[in-house]
This record gives sequence, structure tokens and C-alpha cells, in this order.
Amino acid sequence: SDHHLEYPLNPAAMDWSPHYPALPDKKVEIADIGCGFGGLLMALSPIFPDTLSLGMEIRSSVSQYVHEKIDALRLQEKEKDPKSMAYENIAVLRMNAMKFLPNFFERGQLSKMFFCFPDPHFKQRKFKARIISPTLLSEYGFVLRPGGIIYTITDVEDLHNWMRKHLEEHPLFERLSPEEEENDICVKTMYEATEEGKKVARNKGSKFVACFRRKADPVWE
Ligand code: SAM
Repeated sequence: SDHHLEYPLNPAAMDWSPHYPALPDKKVEIADIGCGFGGLLMALSPIFPDTLSLGMEIRSSVSQYVHEKIDALRLQEKEKDPKSMAYENIAVLRMNAMKFLPNFFERGQLSKMFFCFPDPHFKQRKFKARIISPTLLSEYGFVLRPGGIIYTITDVEDLHNWMRKHLEEHPLFERLSPEEEENDICVKTMYEATEEGKKVARNKGSKFVACFRRKADPVWE
């Protein structure tokens, strides 16, 4: 339960240096919520070499696995080239992303948030237990900068419709055009590089994508 989860009092109190030891002056900009085994993170690393990406995963054994995998990848690249910076820009934290996001990230810190194959048991869950809900969207809108993007993908059509509806109805978000979704390298990457995405492809299932831009803050007259 959450009693065992560590989180900082506020973003300034968070020490990121153990997670990104080679890049101490950078801030996390990309978040993979419920990253599972980390396939997306590892694929994003070379696509955004100058940006820090963070996976957030609530299951301790899974986050431990991702942590060890990232360490191993870093080491493997350093054995080839001692100056290699490969995989230094990705890390994973064990955390409940539905509860403590504003403890980790300042307002407008993030440029991208991924929700890949979330809530597999979505139908049985109560409204408030869902990872996309009106309240949580306001929180995501807080940590996401204007122009930043929320990416969603799922094989559950009902969940796709649920996420779409709530994002469409929220004043801080607008859907990307079909062309923008089609041409976004991140869409292709979450389609192909997530473990769930691969599993769905093996089973010849459908994948539903919806991406939303964080609008500018409203101006009060
Ligand atoms: N995104 C990965 C993929 O596409 O392969 C994993 C998808 S898996 C079906 C959903 C993951 O979200 C699980 O690993 C689960 O432990 C994690 N998760 C669920 N609720 C979470 C929460 N509140 N905070 C962080 N992770 C969560």
C-alpha cells in the first residue's frame, strides 16, 4: 500500500541525482505513467537523447526489474564506449502516479505524459479509481506545460471512449488532428515498443490511440 511509498514533500525536495547520475542539471520532462516493464522508456531514450524520461510504476517487483534493466543497458554501452551517455536519460520510480504527481513535478515541468494500456480491469473499477478522471486530468494539466501532450493507447474500446470523453470535455485539453497523431514519432513508438502493444499485436487485437494537447492557461478578464 501507499504507506511504503516514498515521496518528497514538494518537487524542490526531490533528489534526482541517484536516478540520473550523469545528468545532474536536467529536469524530467517526459513521464510514462504505469510504465510496466519499460519498453517505451527504452525506446524513447535514443529518440529524445537530451531529455529526461521517467517511468512510474506502482508494483515494486516490476519497477525493480526496470531499474536493473536500465543499469545493465548503461553498463553494456559503457563497456563499448566509456564515454557513452546511452540510457543515462531514463529512470524509473516506484510510485502511485494517481496520488503524488505534484509532489514530484513543478507546474508546467512536463512536455509529454504517456498512458499506455492503463487500467486493464477498468470496467470493475470505481469511477475514482480510474487513472483518467476529471480530477486527475486537472492535476495532469497542472504538471504539463501548455503545448505539452497526453498520449493514450489501449486495446479496450470502452476505456478508449472513456478517456477520450473526459479529455474532450476538459477545458485544458484539445485533441490532436488525425494528421498530427499519424505523424507523431511517439505514437508509432507507443504502438510498437510497449510490452502490451506487442502482446496485442501478437494476438491480432486492435489498438486505439488518442492524443491531446495541453491548451494555454485561460486568461481571466
Ligand atoms: N505501459 C505498459 C505497457 O504498455 O506495456 C504497462 C501496461 S500494464 C497493463 C499497466 C501498468 O500500470 C501495470 O504495470 C500497473 O502496475 C501500473 N499501474 C497501475 N496503476 C498505477 C498507479 N496508480 N501508479 C503507477 N503505476 C500504476
